[in-house]
Amino acid sequence: MVRDHGTETFERVLASPGHVWQVMPEHYAVCRRCAELPPCAHETRESEIDAETARLEDLLRMAPGDCLGCGQPITDRMRYTRFPGPNLWRPDLPDDSAVVHARAACRPWAQKYHRAWASIVAPTRSR
Ligand SMILES: [Zn+2]
Ligand SMILES: [Zn+2]
Repeated sequence: MVRDHGTETFERVLASPGHVWQVMPEHYAVCRRCAELPPCAHETRESEIDAETARLEDLLRMAPGDCLGCGQPITDRMRYTRFPGPNLWRPDLPDDSAVVHARAACRPWAQKYHRAWASIVAPTRSR
C-alpha cells in the first residue's frame, strides 16, 4: 500500500546488518520508583547499601579479639595489629579491643581502620 509520498517522515537509524533489534512489548517492566528500565540506578545503589549493611552485621557479630577485617578470632600464633584506644568500629567493645590480622587478606581493613584511628585517636594521645 502506497501512501501520499512526501507527507510521511521516516527516522533512519544506522545499525550493523547483524544487529538484532530489541522490540519492547507494549507493556514492559520499569522500576516503580524511578521509571527506569531495570537494572536502574537506584537498584544499583541499593545493592551497595545491602553490601554496607551486610558489612555492619558482620562487624556486630564479632567478639572482642576477633579480627575487625575478616571476623575470625586471632590466635596467639597469628600476627596482628592492635590499635590502642577506643574501638572505633565497635564502640560497645572495651578499649584496646581493635585488632586486625597482619595477613594480606585483612590488610585493607587494617589500613582503613588506621586512617580513622589516626585522625581520631592518635592526635589526642600524642599530646
Ligand atoms: Zn529504580
Ligand atoms: Zn582477619
